[in-house]
Amino acid sequence: MKIVITEFMDERAVAQLAAKHEVLYDPKLVDDATRLKQEATTADVLIVRNRTQVRGELLAALARCRIVGRLGVGLDNIDVPGCEAKGMKVIPATGANALSVAEYVIATAMLLLRGAYQSTPAVVAGTWPRNALSNGREVGGKTLGLIGFGFIGQLTGQLARGVGMKVLAYDAMMDRDHRAFLRGEARPAALADLVAASDVISLHVPLVDSTRGLFNAERIGAMKQGAVLVNTSRGGIVDEAALAAALKSGHLGGAALDVFDAEPLPAANVFAGCPNLLLTPHIAGVSAESNERVSFMIAEKVLEGLA
Ligand code: NAD
Repeated sequence: MKIVITEFMDERAVAQLAAKHEVLYDPKLVDDATRLKQEATTADVLIVRNRTQVRGELLAALARCRIVGRLGVGLDNIDVPGCEAKGMKVIPATGANALSVAEYVIATAMLLLRGAYQSTPAVVAGTWPRNALSNGREVGGKTLGLIGFGFIGQLTGQLARGVGMKVLAYDAMMDRDHRAFLRGEARPAALADLVAASDVISLHVPLVDSTRGLFNAERIGAMKQGAVLVNTSRGGIVDEAALAAALKSGHLGGAALDVFDAEPLPAANVFAGCPNLLLTPHIAGVSAESNERVSFMIAEKVLEGLA
């Protein structure tokens, strides 16, 4: 069987696949549409991260593919019904990068609420900005609002409880008595109540029609004065211009964004000059450990699927 891997994967997991099957591993293949389509015509398995768009011409070229492995969890770059209609199984790495994302949320919430950790240049320069940085906030006792209480939302809630936060969660698919709430990691809340009550809001929903634009100007305006927004889910869920305006006006106290409408974020963007803003290049779920877990999980599931 021929396995085509279009983006980066842990090389030991690639070797595990190569021990049993023919493997084409080229992390740059995603950037060469012509060659990608060509290789796709003879692939029995396609393995991607989030940049390869498995739809349209690429999907049409997958003439004999049986499995699409996704080195991550969001499936918005894959036409799942289209794949299934052609008899392909789509396999995500459910849960394997959840801890990396959950740690990112707690770390950025602490950085943004405290506001004191970017003083290195000032301290090195001998200006000692102690008074200016004396009003940072603790996370202990603050309320974290989770939008989406799936795998990552639940783990984030667990870590947040560990540092003394109160946790509220809203999930469109879960009733108040859903078993996910039974462990007591989070209290269920209506969306509007959660938005009004939270000091930190963190998004953990997929990008689908019902979540596109969920954090628009109106919803950002309904957040508490000085609250912090963390988005590790997908661009398109937060209105970037409305967020930038809320940071500049001082309505929001800070934001961390790992995902954007357009990735890479173009140099001409709305974020220049925004205070207390952390931007990262879609790496919340990518760490040395999660890359290993994600890669081995997909390698093992692919081998099982082909057995
Ligand atoms: P999951 O499927 O376990 O959980 C998603 C939850 O969102 C589900 O419980 C679902 O019921 C809920 N949901 C769906 N529509 C909703 C809506 N309109 N309002 C409220 N809740 C809604 O997924 P997960 O593993 O927790 O991952 C969540 C998302 O995080 C993924 O879809 C992906 O886009 C993103 N992600 C990003 C990174 C990164 O590196 N930045 C890494 C992993 C995942």
